[in-house]
Amino acid sequence: MSKHTFQTEVNQLLDLMIHSLYSHREIFLRELISNASDALDKLKFLTVSDDAYKSIAFEPKIEVRFDDADRKWLEISDNGIGMNDQDLVEHLGTIAKSGTKNFVSQLSGDHKRDSNLIGQFGVGFYSAFMVSDTITVISRKATDENAWQWESDGKGEYAITPAQRESFGTTIRLQLKDEGKEYANRWTLESTIKKYSNHIPFPIFLDYEATEYDDKGKESGKSRKNEQIGSATALWKRPKSAIKPEEYQEFYKTISHDSGETLATIHTQAEGTLEYTTLFFIPSKAPLDLFRMDYQSGVKLYVKRVFITDDEKELLPTYLRFVRGVIDSEDLPLNVSREILQQNKILANIKSASVKKILSEIKKLSEDSEKYSTFWQEFGRCVKEGLYQDWANREDLLELVRFKSTEGDQLTSLAEYKTRMKADQKAIYFLAGQNESLLRNSPLIEAYKTQGFEVLLLDDEIDELVISQINDYKETPLKAINKSGAADDFAKSLSDDEIKASEPIVNKIKKALGEVVKNVKLSARLNTSPACVVLDENDPSLQMQQMFKMMGQNNLPEIKPILELNPAHAIIQKIGAIEDEALIADASFLLFEQSQLLAGMTLKDPSAFGQRLSRILERAI
Ligand code: ADP
Repeated sequence: MSKHTFQTEVNQLLDLMIHSLYSHREIFLRELISNASDALDKLKFLTVSDDAYKSIAFEPKIEVRFDDADRKWLEISDNGIGMNDQDLVEHLGTIAKSGTKNFVSQLSGDHKRDSNLIGQFGVGFYSAFMVSDTITVISRKATDENAWQWESDGKGEYAITPAQRESFGTTIRLQLKDEGKEYANRWTLESTIKKYSNHIPFPIFLDYEATEYDDKGKESGKSRKNEQIGSATALWKRPKSAIKPEEYQEFYKTISHDSGETLATIHTQAEGTLEYTTLFFIPSKAPLDLFRMDYQSGVKLYVKRVFITDDEKELLPTYLRFVRGVIDSEDLPLNVSREILQQNKILANIKSASVKKILSEIKKLSEDSEKYSTFWQEFGRCVKEGLYQDWANREDLLELVRFKSTEGDQLTSLAEYKTRMKADQKAIYFLAGQNESLLRNSPLIEAYKTQGFEVLLLDDEIDELVISQINDYKETPLKAINKSGAADDFAKSLSDDEIKASEPIVNKIKKALGEVVKNVKLSARLNTSPACVVLDENDPSLQMQQMFKMMGQNNLPEIKPILELNPAHAIIQKIGAIEDEALIADASFLLFEQSQLLAGMTLKDPSAFGQRLSRILERAI
């Protein structure tokens, strides 16, 4: 016998489950049956694709047995792939999925009892400890001679010993505790299995003792029954009209391990040149690993009902990685290898049809503002990624993207923006930066406000990258407002007199600032602010510069901003009236630095800024 201790996170998960899921104990049955079904899927695949397994006589099934005597137990058996001693240690002593593992360690802190959160990841096998004092697993791997036993009371340790099993497969025996004893019952088992596992594509048999009655209705004896429950057909192959919404939801829960509702169910049964079925779900909550490099694919591939893989990230484009579901093709060969999968024409066609279908469902979803706002909050970023990954579907993606805007607090689509455009407005205007409040209060917006032109406010890190891919929307160009001259096409221009009168002031400030700016100019776009900084038309934006730096490009030439002045503003006029060079320098720098701060830039020398501010304050007070 060898004794082992559980990985720390397993103990944490067990503890969390006891505290959070006690009112949903019954899900343990779904988890165990789903594991059995996966094990059957895996062996089925090997028997059609691998010569070593082809001779195996394989009639996949799941069996459920129980004893309702004093020491009540429940057993779930399958004749699937099975596990050897090493597999048992790896699979039933640790949490393999990195996303789940990290999440469990985080959860163990403050959110300890939050059952909503725990619903987001697969509790899997370990959930059986909610109803069991002891769990014994006896397993024999297909093509192995030896069987192994794994046993634990869920209190930190488990033991592995050699065992006997007639044939390959796995038996999980639960010694039921008080909180689980109702599962040693035919009716409870039957109804729970029907509720949670009706879509399992393998037959599930329930073994029970039935009471016999004679024709007068008197008890005449007992007999053992082995009755198939559940339909044993893959849900996605059943006619759409015969599937109830609850059945879709249960199926979703099984494949996603997410207990939340879905925002959309997309079931397609295609016939014709290509024959395939796809069943996709859009979750209402982002999976934990959505933004991790090692995220898990959410789509399982089947060929003629035989499970092929759930680890192929190319089945859908990366930006749709939040979609959960299955693809089942009638046309692919069963023994497809990964290399073949990736260049397979059939799969490529299924993929492109699926993307179109999913995007059109998201479009439909966007008509329901409440649902779409949930969707956007969780997956908006993915849609934005799509804009620079998926050129073929750009038009559709452009309809889905949403931005903040100066027009109210709601997000807006580009289409909505267009309907609000003024007759003389030539472009869709936007301002990108890191902080919504800075953007909303930016001096750059003043001229647009005066004209009644709406400005999109892009405060998401990737917005800049996204927007740089969109030159126009339905023939209306998109224009950044923080570029020099951006407002020229509509702002009132300065009169010759104004320009002439302000020239000495511009020169004074230019001289004071010297090399720190690219240029100092007069601007007609400002209203209440004295100045603003902008970038030269062809210079990369601030966010772009930061992005280049993050990507390790440190040798970019320094990009200097242009300072634009409002000649009508009192501060500018006063600078014009003073002669004290030191004071002119302080005022010019403060103007420049204040404008930089308002544009979300960091100051090169904050202490010099502080000293300048103190000197000016001292004079003013
Ligand atoms: P999950 O099913 O989400 O991976 P579980 O904790 O339920 O997580 O199971 C962990 C692993 O144990 C499974 O991935 C599988 O490799 C193995 N396993 C569990 N039950 C069985 C079974 N009945 N037959 C074969 N392997 C199993």
